Amino acid sequence: MDDYVEDVGENLVVAIPAEFRHAGFRYSFDVVNQKQINAFALPGGPMFLNRGMIEAARNEAQMAGVMAHEIAHVALRHGTAQATKGQTFQIGAITGQILGAIVGGTAGTVIAQGSQFGLGAYFLKYSREYERQADLLGAQIMARAGYDPREMANMFKIIQASRVDAAVRSG
Ligand SMILES: [Zn+2]
Repeated sequence: MDDYVEDVGENLVVAIPAEFRHAGFRYSFDVVNQKQINAFALPGGPMFLNRGMIEAARNEAQMAGVMAHEIAHVALRHGTAQATKGQTFQIGAITGQILGAIVGGTAGTVIAQGSQFGLGAYFLKYSREYERQADLLGAQIMARAGYDPREMANMFKIIQASRVDAAVRSG
């Protein structure tokens, strides 16, 4: 599953419009063995998708939609912008399982990259305007990668209907 998600992610990354590419960013995609429907990305590119998110998607385009949305947050430097503005982070509960996945994975570097923002950065709550921007750029990335961008909206409907994690749309 890791390889599959990584392949989809790579196809999305090459579809990022040139003006939103940043030399120092390294996108990576890891599956977290959690059934909650959730996904998040850290400033600079590391993304984590719960198994529950992948299982809830009815097709590849829907999974890609969530990933494209998260890639857009990163490409638009939303985490960094939010941190530098000194806005309050919404800090969610970080379970040992997620932390274990992060520490055990690719990701001493992930912790290092994220640490300047504190662990709260893992569960950044973005403003409505940032969400709108991520939807727009994410849809553009999807289309360039050959997916139907409408599947992003369909996936967010599934997420909202599941109500497993009401906060998920904030990420
Ligand atoms: Zn978002």
